[in-house]
Amino acid sequence: MQIYSKLPDVGTTIFTVMSSLAVEYNAVNLGQGFPDFRMNEALIALVNDAMKKGSNQYAHMSGLPLLRERLAEKVERSYHTKIDPDSQITITPGGTYAIFTALTTVLQPGDEVIVFEPAYDSYIPNIEINGAKPVLISLQYPDYSIPWDEVRQKVNARTRMIMINSPHNPTGAVLSENDIEQLRSIVAGTKIIILSDEVYEHLIFDEIQHQSILRYPDLLERSFVCFSFGKTYHCTGWKLGYCISTAAMMKEYRKVHQFNCFSCDTPKQVALAEYITNQEEYVTLGKFMQEKRDFFRELMKATPFKGIPSHGSYFECYSYGHFTDESDKALAIRLTKEYGIASIPVSAFYKNATDHKVLRFCFAKKEETLEKAVAKLIHLR
Ligand code: PMP
Ligand code: GLN
Repeated sequence: MQIYSKLPDVGTTIFTVMSSLAVEYNAVNLGQGFPDFRMNEALIALVNDAMKKGSNQYAHMSGLPLLRERLAEKVERSYHTKIDPDSQITITPGGTYAIFTALTTVLQPGDEVIVFEPAYDSYIPNIEINGAKPVLISLQYPDYSIPWDEVRQKVNARTRMIMINSPHNPTGAVLSENDIEQLRSIVAGTKIIILSDEVYEHLIFDEIQHQSILRYPDLLERSFVCFSFGKTYHCTGWKLGYCISTAAMMKEYRKVHQFNCFSCDTPKQVALAEYITNQEEYVTLGKFMQEKRDFFRELMKATPFKGIPSHGSYFECYSYGHFTDESDKALAIRLTKEYGIASIPVSAFYKNATDHKVLRFCFAKKEETLEKAVAKLIHLR
């Protein structure tokens, strides 16, 4: 039976392609972003407990009420903004779903969405499947900053949304207060909605303050802000996240959510509701991951790669155009097959596969994993 594809240009996500190749060639996987160290045992115990005590039926459609209350407290502590847990937060099965639901809630056929590239790989297909049009703007290589003048030129009456992501995947770039000012001046007086992907909110380095949209009530008025528990608690496989918005926008969001997954994993929500009262866990996360970045960075000095500094996320990008002409995809495949180390070619995050000859490496790994990986890379020719 023939299916008329809704995503005719889309293949298999690069994360699955590279992770499969890593398995096939028994390579160290610094490609797909996930920690290889164990998550906190106390949080696992809380999930076990919740299951044993009988928290095994459907949770509330918008998320376990206690978890939403605790998240509202965390938001107030972290960003000094009061949000209403009843009407402004929805728990979702992961950050990716939170983003998809926001786009599906808002977009009408013909709407334009400004997307910065390199872009996390789900954004553009999520826009297109809703019949809207991605308007692509390249971040400025090599610091991957936003060219705000170009944004101004591309905004028009059809612009419905601007998507931002800080700390940024794949580059580790972070937005500054000035970026927020620029964004504010562009959206003022328009009907533009902001989608802010903040899944790496706590993975930020060098004492930089995360410019969450939640700090800015005037911007939150027009935003969906998306998060992932997977990144904060080293459990990407849990696929649990949440979205914060205004009560009015969240009301529409929940209409989409309730007939898609309806509600999320109950025992994990029960466990997280208790666990997130431990502020230490997320306040120290930036330092913990920065040590890994620095460790990896130091090791990489012995390889021919040149680092493009990351200030947040799980990732640091490295350029190689000075020692080979190969495409980034070709080099990523060669490194996996011949040197036993998987990475992600950054051209995969551009619709037209722009190739600056840059690979993304995930450093959210045990030190021994990073050592093992780089020991192989040192021999690269
Ligand atoms: N946005 C970005 C930028 C990400 O890197 C990720 C991680 N996969 C997500 C969203 C989605 O997170 P989750 O795994 O919770 O769906
Ligand atoms: N966010 C992760 C990355 O960028 C992977 C998520 C996924 O595999 N879909 O590597």
